[in-house]
Amino acid sequence: MNIPLTEQLQYHNGQLHMEASNITSLATEYPTPFYCYSQARLLDNIRRCQAAFTPRGIAVHYAMKANSNMHILSLISDQGLGADTVSGGEIQRAVSAGFPPERIIFSGVGKSAAEIRQALEVGIGQFNVESAEELMRLASLAETANQPVRVALRVNPDVAVDTHRHITTGTKGNKFGIEPAQALKLFREYASHPRLRLSGLAMHIGSQICDATPYRQALSRLLSLVSTLKYEGITISHLDLGGGFGIDYGNGNSLSFEDAARTIAETLASEAPDYTGDVVVEPGRSIIADAGILVTTVNYVKQAEPRPFLILDAAMNDLMRPALYQAEHPLIPAHRRGPSATEQFDVVGPVCESTDTFSRNTPLDNAPQAGDIMAFLCAGAYCSVMSSGYNSRDITAELLIGQGQATLIRRRITQADLMQFEQ
Ligand SMILES: *Cc1c(COP(=O)(O)O)cnc(C)c1O
Repeated sequence: MNIPLTEQLQYHNGQLHMEASNITSLATEYPTPFYCYSQARLLDNIRRCQAAFTPRGIAVHYAMKANSNMHILSLISDQGLGADTVSGGEIQRAVSAGFPPERIIFSGVGKSAAEIRQALEVGIGQFNVESAEELMRLASLAETANQPVRVALRVNPDVAVDTHRHITTGTKGNKFGIEPAQALKLFREYASHPRLRLSGLAMHIGSQICDATPYRQALSRLLSLVSTLKYEGITISHLDLGGGFGIDYGNGNSLSFEDAARTIAETLASEAPDYTGDVVVEPGRSIIADAGILVTTVNYVKQAEPRPFLILDAAMNDLMRPALYQAEHPLIPAHRRGPSATEQFDVVGPVCESTDTFSRNTPLDNAPQAGDIMAFLCAGAYCSVMSSGYNSRDITAELLIGQGQATLIRRRITQADLMQFEQ
């Protein structure tokens, strides 16, 4: 495994720094575990993303389930991105963070009536509908809406994607999206609906995809649906191609914004040269993942057969991806001691579950010792947002490094806080 350090995360004299902040010193100021994000890295990712997509006429919406901290959201909305949301809570956060309602898209396979009403009240830009049943519900709730409601149907393009089976979404048998033939029927049925304006097609084929080919294939299927609809006199003016661009978690694989944007633009140019509507993408992970780390302390180095355990003070409740889909996050020391032999460890947390295991057989040098500060890398996306208080552990704090200082952007949620809700 190579170590995916970034320009904003580097060793200086053996001490890990995020921008100008020394991680070891931060860990004396704030109790571990805590998340720590680089503002410069986040802004740099957004800049690269916009540089790839905007000149090609493709708008960028941030998929906020990756990280929905209010401070992070405000930084992202300030850069002019739209938001892709999947719950009423996310819509509420998006609006509070300053995303203009017309640039909010509401996706998700199980929108409740209350969530749909909320989204209608806010006046969001587009509903991405995932079933005939949902469309019917939306049609009846939209009766009182004072403006036409824009709808895209999320189609399941049935393409194979080389990613973990728990994060593929665009193949048959998956709960997401509508089959193209059924989408066609719904477009016919709702073509002249008085409140709903069915004018979009959406897809999202999965996450952590490191190859552009599935995008080409899926978009191609979407575009053949666009031309079938056109033949029937139904015009598609909104294409939402989802997110899923893979980042380097240490195995060297990723999909750059530039490659994704080029593939999408080339496919559009060759297969739908006369398409003049909007195109949006919805990256989440690739915007924020490599801007974040989880800082943790080694609790014990437990000698055992066949290998020692490295027992951290971070656990599956803080960082759930390894337990949820066998994800691996590179783990590095905050202070490099210098040359030492590499040893194998099983890296675990203190929670009473066998799946509270971050990795097995992990080669680590630096001769880890109790008390060492370490950092899991690429922990900005789908990490803090999934954290819980399981085992009555505090919910992890979040820090933002930017403009030469560390700011607490979510304080640790303590047992005293949590107990207040249980009186
Ligand atoms: C999760 C999700 C995304 C973002 O996926 P990433 O892999 O984080 O880029 C985009 N669109 C939809 C509909 C999603 O559910």
